Amino acid sequence: MSYDSIYISPHEDDAVLSCGGKIASEHKNKKILIITIFGRPSEITSKKFARRKKAFDEYETRNIEDSGAMEFLNVDYVRLEYPELFFRGSLLTLIFPTIDVKKNDLYSDLYIKLKSLITEHLSSNGYVFFPLAIGAHRDHLITFQVGKALTNENRENLFFYEDIPYVFVPYYFMYRMNNLCMNDERQNIVKQIVSINSYFSEVYGYSKVLSLIPLFFVVLIHVVCIKRKSNIKINEMEPYVFEVKETDFFKKISAIQQYKSQLKLLFGNDSVSSIEKRLREYSQKINSAIFYQERCWKIY
Ligand SMILES: [Zn+2]
Repeated sequence: MSYDSIYISPHEDDAVLSCGGKIASEHKNKKILIITIFGRPSEITSKKFARRKKAFDEYETRNIEDSGAMEFLNVDYVRLEYPELFFRGSLLTLIFPTIDVKKNDLYSDLYIKLKSLITEHLSSNGYVFFPLAIGAHRDHLITFQVGKALTNENRENLFFYEDIPYVFVPYYFMYRMNNLCMNDERQNIVKQIVSINSYFSEVYGYSKVLSLIPLFFVVLIHVVCIKRKSNIKINEMEPYVFEVKETDFFKKISAIQQYKSQLKLLFGNDSVSSIEKRLREYSQKINSAIFYQERCWKIY
């Protein structure tokens, strides 16, 4: 089977969260495939990597929810069985996710696997969407690196989408762009900490003191990211905005709601109004004149 669009989703909800509006509007006349990478550890990897049985058992629920979202959007999907960071990561890579991403043993294996799936399933004028890896999640970074390597072979049909919900957090987009290509503008670090702290406390109801703990890691990750800049120039990155109609926007929200067990973690609240509020706030920061949009980038 050959597809017009292939979305690469590190975890089960990523493609729907970040590109669900585009997928909802495209599926009427295009063939769409979603490939989830860290879909569920196989029995062998789970024996090797599973550290917390409860978390492993939760895959059952997450798989069912994901199938519900895929069926609701009427798209085809493939779930690969790579173990996610939680099962395989060392403490060092959990704290500093950017360390040696390309040396990770998953990287080469994943590169071969995705290249072969894309070659086999992408139509000759089709497009592939990878995550931009905003938020510095190591699984997203590995996936981004595979996409980046593949752009060297066919840059015309490859895009990188902004990762929701990571892109909602103040400064996360700037951190990623600094990491990728921009000259490091000197920003007021106190202002950054105050903004991020307010975000976590508003969305998740964390106490401002408790929020300082994740913030400490945010700053740490940021510092490490800056030291490990990619060699992309700013004029080698071009944004593409996809306008989403109101009906498709609400279809995206219904698809997101299939991931019931993840909603509080993603949006702080599982109500339609909170999901809608966060998504529209993000969209309005890009362009307030458009009802809703999803943005991705091309890297030359
Ligand atoms: Zn993810």
